[in-house]
Amino acid sequence: MNEKEYFNVADIFGENVFNDTVMQTRLPKKVYKKLHDVIEQGGELDLETADVIAHEMKEWAIEKGATHYTHWFQPLTGFTAEKHDSFISAPMENGKVLMSFSGKELIKGETDASSFPSGGLRATVEARGYTAWDCTSPAFVRQDAAGATLCIPTAFCSYTGEALDQKTPLLRSMEAINEQALRLLRLFGNTTSNKVTPSVGAEQEYFIIDREKYLQRKDLVFAGRTLFGAMPPKGQEMDDHYFGTIRERIAAYMKDVNIELWKLGVAAKTQHNEVAPAQHELAPIYAQCNVAVDHNQLIMETLKKVAGRHGLHCLLHEKPFAGVNGSGKHDNWSLTTDDGINLLEPGDTPHENIQFLLVLTCILKAVDDHAALLRASAADVGNDHRLGANEAPPAIISAFLGEQLEDVIEQLVSTGAATHSLTGKRLDTGVKTLPDFMKDATDRNRTSPFAFTGNKFEFRSVGSQDSVAQANVVLNTIVAEAFCEACDELEKAEDFSLAVHNLIKKYATEHQRIIFNGDGYSKEWVKEAERRGLPNLKSMVDAIPAYLDPKSVAAFEKFGVFTKAELESRVEVEYETYAKSINIEGRAMIDIASKQIIPAVIKYTTMLGNSLATVKNACPDADVSVQTELLLETSALLSDTKVALARLTDAVDQAKEMPRGKEQAVFFHEKIVPAMEALRSPVDALEMIVDKEMWPMPSYGDLLFEVSAL
Ligand code: ADP
Ligand code: MG
Repeated sequence: MNEKEYFNVADIFGENVFNDTVMQTRLPKKVYKKLHDVIEQGGELDLETADVIAHEMKEWAIEKGATHYTHWFQPLTGFTAEKHDSFISAPMENGKVLMSFSGKELIKGETDASSFPSGGLRATVEARGYTAWDCTSPAFVRQDAAGATLCIPTAFCSYTGEALDQKTPLLRSMEAINEQALRLLRLFGNTTSNKVTPSVGAEQEYFIIDREKYLQRKDLVFAGRTLFGAMPPKGQEMDDHYFGTIRERIAAYMKDVNIELWKLGVAAKTQHNEVAPAQHELAPIYAQCNVAVDHNQLIMETLKKVAGRHGLHCLLHEKPFAGVNGSGKHDNWSLTTDDGINLLEPGDTPHENIQFLLVLTCILKAVDDHAALLRASAADVGNDHRLGANEAPPAIISAFLGEQLEDVIEQLVSTGAATHSLTGKRLDTGVKTLPDFMKDATDRNRTSPFAFTGNKFEFRSVGSQDSVAQANVVLNTIVAEAFCEACDELEKAEDFSLAVHNLIKKYATEHQRIIFNGDGYSKEWVKEAERRGLPNLKSMVDAIPAYLDPKSVAAFEKFGVFTKAELESRVEVEYETYAKSINIEGRAMIDIASKQIIPAVIKYTTMLGNSLATVKNACPDADVSVQTELLLETSALLSDTKVALARLTDAVDQAKEMPRGKEQAVFFHEKIVPAMEALRSPVDALEMIVDKEMWPMPSYGDLLFEVSAL
């Protein structure tokens, strides 16, 4: 490494963030205190204070090279959006300009919202949308080819105040769980905690491939995943990639990603190779829910941006390659008080920890009551290739507790009281020079969609390219509802100890069916889950209706997270997103099959035919059975391809005529997806036969193994 490249992580961490330290040093004491209070306790900033903050923020950003600012928001597209304004004011009489940024500009932005999905909430005539500063997620300066830009995290609402984004309901759900969790803590005599915040750590999986090769694959360019592709001789069966040594080219890329993220205050912590070839993971240290959601967006943007600089391309799609593992996002979730208590910390003897047992059984109740909604929160088009498609985790929502807690619940249900907790045993390695250490009381379970992992739940169903906002909106709301019900009961109880004991037992008994510690992939589990009455929603279109289930509407409305109209609009957006995405995939397949694959196969058959004729001509007795067989086989597959292509084209044309919404989405799911599979099958068989030199795009082998070989 070049000497100049040495740097101290602690020095660069957060250097582009307008964080608490910067605020404290740059803002007048009174202003800092006001802002700090609003961040901690909520409330509104007066314009005078906002003006001072805006001015200092601008000065600081200009020192970092910023020329523009943007309200950075998260519309329902799943990506972030921004509109850049420069700091310059109207030129003065002397022809010079000033750089200005007012409190009003900081707090509120106005934008034409008509091109963002709103699901009918907002007619184009009422196109006004507003972005409002989320001061609990710090502003930052982003440096890239566009120069430097001051990014202000915001929430995005319509003229009439309806949420048009991911952030608004997230902040509402955080308020709901804060209020209900504080009620619960007070019941247990806690008078010191003033705030409870969901903590979230989102582990991000992704694939890295060579950019040149990526550009030669139209399916990857248009759809983000391969729509054709036969498996190479080597897949992931050797498991030699998982946690393997990270190759130089990838390591150099990861280093740059980390530096970019650290500067933005994202605590990128863990990186390793994943199970599939060319697959990797990045995990940050957890942060407060809305900040973690913002940070995950920054992680996804940074992974993509930096890849380009290294001649690489980052695929965030859930299933870029058939036949090898797909990518997901593990949403680690817990509840933390402002004075550092984790409500999901069981301690060494969970059976005695009554507050923990109440929190735990409330969460089990919430997940059981709203399993379909939780499943829907992780639905995205690409995720249909994971959930319910023989890949981790299954579409059936269940909770894994591990031996120790499952045993406590079992005691509660069978005898009404838990009297002991299983403890971890000493791990004996059999090697004298290795230290002995205590094993965890519980092993891991990789197949569970909702697993308790020590002091947090890990919701593993979220898709790799999806925002984690929706999953956390749902988790926060349903757990707030369960806490609320418990507190309603316990606050009026005469004998608290007895009442809480009975309630824990009741919840454990009524919701034990959601606990499953076995193999989530097995066929037996599908049957068993059906017997238990747990929903098994295999696709996005099956899952979407859960948002409008009366139980879901009631929970969202009760805590002011979504109105029914907002939910209806989101459902519309989801159906449309589904239809649009599959439409792109279908049309890309038609394009690639007709313009690239069929012509290439025709060339190959012509070559075979010529070879056959030439050999026959030169030597009438020669054995040409191989050429003949290949020609017959190829021609048969070619005609299957043509038939399947015609069917897909018809179906896509038919879909175009349908009105947007549920019916169209269902048609895409039930008719187009199978028609796409039917086209893929003969094409993949052809790829195995046709001369590699003549195949019009890089193969799976080229894409997956060449990067890892570097
Ligand atoms: P793995 O799931 O691979 O074992 P780790 O134990 O490293 O991974 O943790 C995964 C993620 O969980 C990290 O982002 C970490 O910051 C986050 N995490 C750890 N503790 C908590 C917590 N109490 N609440 C929320 N997230 C947490
Ligand atoms: Mg994990």
